[in-house]
Amino acid sequence: MARKKIIAGNWKMNKTPSEAVALVEELKPLVANEEVDVVFCVPAIDIVPVVEAAKGTNIQVGAENMYFEESGAYTGEISPAMLVDAGVKYVVLGHSERREYFGETNEDVNKKVLKAFEHGITPIMCCGETLEQREQGVTMDFIRQQVKVGFQNVTADQAKNAVIAYEPIWAIGTGKTATTEQAQEVCAGIRACIAEVYDEATAEAIRIQYGGSVNAATAPELFAQADIDGGLVGGASLKADFGKIVNYK
Ligand code: PGA
Repeated sequence: MARKKIIAGNWKMNKTPSEAVALVEELKPLVANEEVDVVFCVPAIDIVPVVEAAKGTNIQVGAENMYFEESGAYTGEISPAMLVDAGVKYVVLGHSERREYFGETNEDVNKKVLKAFEHGITPIMCCGETLEQREQGVTMDFIRQQVKVGFQNVTADQAKNAVIAYEPIWAIGTGKTATTEQAQEVCAGIRACIAEVYDEATAEAIRIQYGGSVNAATAPELFAQADIDGGLVGGASLKADFGKIVNYK
């Protein structure tokens, strides 16, 4: 069975609640495409108004992070149950910005991935190399480690429903998209890693996105690659351009 493409916007730390609602109103008609899964991953404070604004549309709402504990004395954190109750279906986990600025480790990401599944939230687990790692030729070793640790104790059935976002750090927010060949090569490598850890059926089912300066011009070729099942889009998800990306065909 062909994998359904998943095109997700990652708003990062942008848009106040009222601005978020205005953006959803603007994008609603532009992203109305039932052939792909459309997800808006938004700041925590925007989740409730965005879920409300997106009601009755094809837009699904995701969070950009969550904590791995159920509840308790974790000031400032947000639990999986809170996200579920608010109407969240996806959660971005292990984004390189969280790893770099907030010290998230592969082990933290793994705990969050397991929790997300426990609560029926689909994780979009991010991985990707730095420019130095690419230049040293260790890209795939590094990413395999991120994927293997990130998916520890995740069952094959869970993994089949997961999303992995390959985001080379040097391509994020830099306007420097990986070439189609580079993106396809790593996404294929991630799929091979999943086949090794699980089996072919799981590798065939899991969806792998590319992220890093995706725009309306680069999306069609990227998304046409055999192992690229859509994108995680930062900057361009905050503009009308996102509609073009969703309707890339
Ligand atoms: P970008 O961000 O599209 O602005 O490069 C992608 C991401 O970090 O998810």
